[in-house]
Amino acid sequence: MKVRAAVMEEFNKPLKVLNVTDPECGPDDVIVAVKANGVCRSDWHGWVGDWGWMGLKPELPHILGHEFAGVIEEVGKNVKRFKKGDRVVIPFSLGCGSCDCCQTGHQNVCENITVFGFVCNGSYAQFTRVPLADQNLVHLPESIDFTTAASLGCRFMTSFHAVTDISGVKAGDYFTIYGGGGVGLAALQVASTLGARAIVVDIDDQKLEMAKQLGAVETVNSREVNPVEAIMDITSGGSDITLDALGIAETCRNSIMSLKNRGTHVQVGLTTKEEGGMVALPTDLIVAKELQIKGSLGMQPHRYKALLAMVESGQLHPEKLISKTISLEEASDVLASMHEYGTVGSVIIDRF
Ligand SMILES: [Zn+2]
Ligand SMILES: [Zn+2]
Repeated sequence: MKVRAAVMEEFNKPLKVLNVTDPECGPDDVIVAVKANGVCRSDWHGWVGDWGWMGLKPELPHILGHEFAGVIEEVGKNVKRFKKGDRVVIPFSLGCGSCDCCQTGHQNVCENITVFGFVCNGSYAQFTRVPLADQNLVHLPESIDFTTAASLGCRFMTSFHAVTDISGVKAGDYFTIYGGGGVGLAALQVASTLGARAIVVDIDDQKLEMAKQLGAVETVNSREVNPVEAIMDITSGGSDITLDALGIAETCRNSIMSLKNRGTHVQVGLTTKEEGGMVALPTDLIVAKELQIKGSLGMQPHRYKALLAMVESGQLHPEKLISKTISLEEASDVLASMHEYGTVGSVIIDRF
């Protein structure tokens, strides 16, 4: 059987929608019929050929896609927790199940991590193979539709973990977010829901307007004003928590410099070719203010329980971040528009 997939044959060139050989189901795998798949800035990084420094430069030809929801089509003989017809969603960082991190519940930073859609083929396709299904797949409740679930798949759950598990946020805290893309706006929603006063910094008024609608107490356009001074002013001396959702040198540094004494910076955005994984930081300030610098990656499968419950109960509204749905053919243009940070909210492929 052949399946339709958007194939990357060259970096930085349009994806080609082709009929490819359908994925083979190994003993620990499942094959999922993809019903919805998010187009993410991480896909853009993969598409331009970034992230070789993290071992995440895909081998060509490659099928991108790591935030998806769908229905199980086939299960491997060792898979016990899932059956054909189950509705599922996955975190993009797949754990091995047996290393120290997996054994202690931190599968998102598994020592033998498989980053779905980068080191294996992803979900810009009608069908995709999920390795180590029992360890990593999550059942999707009936009440959450596939498009919403796909929008949780990466940016939303990444932000959920960063805000609820890593940042240490408390009600009333100032929580400043650098970057009003998918990660930033999701972090804003989660932080606000937990009672924090969220501020969003971006260069795009459209994104800032969306941030206001989603509950930001203030927004700052960093093209118009010095964002660090603006944050110091709004918060009367510094933000309790800051989060860099973007991962360029400027936002990372500004995020750290916007903290109050003993504040916490959470790094979620990964860098581009320009930084190559290295950013010079204000180390004396980190010492003098006893700043905490933390990293946050994805989310463990077991944390979906809390996230899905908050979506089901209406406390979180990931669907509000979906700006449009597209066909598989249109994915390539969306990636190209990301050169200029042209996308607002999440774009989801729902026609394969
Ligand atoms: Zn592991
Ligand atoms: Zn993603």
